[in-house]
Amino acid sequence: MCRMNRAAACLVLAAVFFLTACAASQAEYYVGFSLSSLYVGGEAVSVRERAAASSAIADLLHEIESQIGADREDSDVARINAADAGERIAVGEHTYAILTLCKELFEETGEAFSPALYNLSELWGFTPDFEGQYSVPRAEPPENQIAAAVALSDFDDIILHEDGTVSKRQAGVRIDLGGVAKGYMSDAAAQLLAERFGDSVDAILSVMSNSVLMGHKRGSNASLGYTATIENPRAVVTAGSGASQGLFVIGLSDVAVSTSADTYRSYVYDGRIYSHIIDPATGKPSANGVISIMVTVPRTASNAGARADAYSTAGFCMPLTDALAFYASLAEERGIGAVVITADWSYYVVGDCTALNRTEYAALVSPDTVIEDIFERAEIADARDEVVADAREEEYIRFVAERSGE
Ligand code: AMP
Ligand code: MG
Repeated sequence: MCRMNRAAACLVLAAVFFLTACAASQAEYYVGFSLSSLYVGGEAVSVRERAAASSAIADLLHEIESQIGADREDSDVARINAADAGERIAVGEHTYAILTLCKELFEETGEAFSPALYNLSELWGFTPDFEGQYSVPRAEPPENQIAAAVALSDFDDIILHEDGTVSKRQAGVRIDLGGVAKGYMSDAAAQLLAERFGDSVDAILSVMSNSVLMGHKRGSNASLGYTATIENPRAVVTAGSGASQGLFVIGLSDVAVSTSADTYRSYVYDGRIYSHIIDPATGKPSANGVISIMVTVPRTASNAGARADAYSTAGFCMPLTDALAFYASLAEERGIGAVVITADWSYYVVGDCTALNRTEYAALVSPDTVIEDIFERAEIADARDEVVADAREEEYIRFVAERSGE
């Protein structure tokens, strides 16, 4: 939770934890795992014990992946996707648990988060079989193909049975858990650490762009709490010191953190960015003027990592003011925090969350650093659904277009 106020934070130095997001394929989820800090009862765990814990987590993530990876031959998800209407598919405990949770998240997000979009993701060229080609410029698919894929993208067509099997109402519906899998894996990794070392674990673990900051920050500058760095999705056109760092969320403890961004898989065509997050309502890549969303969920919530993952993806598929209202209601109900960066290069902070701009953060941790802000803080009351792209955003789009030979 983001408890520390800015004045208090100014009294201490920060230890920075970089939440890196990389665009690895589904097949590489476990490779993106890291355990970068591990304390038990306030004492640092030995290198050997940490390595053993990491190895146990890697095995667990492998097992989860073998059940839920859509591109894994014989995975539960692959078998569900290939099944006929009404055919009962027996699935493993992770697949069943994640689908059960997805039912709740589908409803809670007003269907903005939908794990039944595989057909659309494939149509737009974002499924793993397009690995290496995600950034290739391409025309939009014909409307009739989009409409046909939308008709086969309803998560209500996926039925979970009490005997642990899964069936579909329509044979052609296919699921894709890419929007929640990394968060689910981060929860599983955190749970393994808690079981192995007990309740007094303080740890930082990440599954790509999904992290769990367990307990409290230990080691140097512990009084600042954990810091999560929000990657700058426009770093390729913002030269200068620390260009890859966009914003900083400080004072965190015992939270799951997830970031979604339009850069993870995307291309530019005809002056527009097309990203891998598909709006289930339109069947097209989300186009609400949002470029990055970070969500923090307190670990007092069940499945905090999976929730953070789904919530950060869902916000892309809502008009901006709806997304901000959605996060505000979750802040009230579940104590979440959210930082939404928009194409006018503004950012909005929702909930009890201390998000610092680059100059504020530098003043706190390294006053001699010369650094400029990239994004400007905006007030939620001033947010409008029609986001007017900043001139630097247009420069970014031109840069990506030229780089990809468009
Ligand atoms: P994330 O990086 O967590 O925001 O998840 C994005 C991934 O989730 C995409 O690459 C797709 O695999 C999948 N996805 C795309 N659109 C949606 C959506 N509206 N709801 C749920 N998952 C989605
Ligand atoms: Mg997600």
